[in-house]
Amino acid sequence: EMTVIPDIRLRHLSKSFTEGQREHRVLNDVSADFLRGETIAVRGRSGSGKSTLLNLIGGIDTPDAGQVIVAGVDLTDLSERDRTLFRREHIGFVYQAFNLVPTLDVADNIRLVLELNGVPPREAQQRIEALLEAVGLADRAQSYPDVLSGGEQQRVAIARALCHEPAVVIADEPTGNLDDNTAEVVLALLDRLVRERGGTMLIATHSARVAAVCDREIEIHGGKLETPARVHESR
Ligand code: ADP
Ligand code: MG
Repeated sequence: EMTVIPDIRLRHLSKSFTEGQREHRVLNDVSADFLRGETIAVRGRSGSGKSTLLNLIGGIDTPDAGQVIVAGVDLTDLSERDRTLFRREHIGFVYQAFNLVPTLDVADNIRLVLELNGVPPREAQQRIEALLEAVGLADRAQSYPDVLSGGEQQRVAIARALCHEPAVVIADEPTGNLDDNTAEVVLALLDRLVRERGGTMLIATHSARVAAVCDREIEIHGGKLETPARVHESR
C-alpha cells in the first residue's frame, strides 16, 4: 500500500567545513522531502557530502542553517541531549565498517541498543532471537565479531540497526567493504527487512546495483541535491 506521508523534511540546509583557511560548503541551501516507507539512494562522488547529509538526518551532526524534521520533530530545535535520545529511539544506523562492539558477543551487541531503549530483558531476548533468525545468524549469538566474516558482521549490524524498530534507517555505504556476492545478499536482506517494517531508509552508495533496489535516487552535486536525470542534463 502506498503512503504519501512526508517522514523527513529538509529545509534550506547548509553545512560547511573549514579546511585550513578555506571554507568548503558541502551542502548549500538543500531542501527535500522523503516519504514514510520510501528507500532513497544517495549518490555522488567521494567527498560530495553523502555522509554529511546522512549525519544531519540521523541527528549525529547539526547544520549551520536550515531545518531537519524527522517524523515531525525538528532536530535543530533539540538540545544535544534530546537529539541523542531521539536518535537512539528513532534512527537505525548501518555503516561501511560495521562498527560492532568487539568486546561484546553478537547477542549483546544487539542487547546494548535494546537496553538503551529501556526494553525489558525478556522482551529483549525474544527480539534478539527473532532478529538473528531473520538475518540467518541464529547459531552465532555467542560469537564475537572478530570471528565473523564481513558479511556476517554486517548482518549483525543490520539486526542491531532494526532491533528498536526505528522509523528511519541510515545506511552509509553498507556494502562498501563487502565482495560483490556478499554485498548482494546483505543488500537484499537490508532492503527486505526495512520494507517489511515500513521503515524509511537512506543509503549512501557508489553502486548502481544498490541504487537499483531503492525507490529513487538523489545525487549530491556541487552542494545541491539533484535527481540523476537533472545532473545528466546539466553536464
Ligand atoms: P562523502 O560521504 O560523499 O564521501 P562527506 O560527507 O564525508 O562526503 O564529506 C564531504 C566533504 O566534507 C569532504 O570534503 C570532507 O573532507 C568534508 N568533511 C566531512 N566531515 C568533516 C569534518 N568533520 N571536518 C572537516 N571536514 C569534513
Ligand atoms: Mg561518506
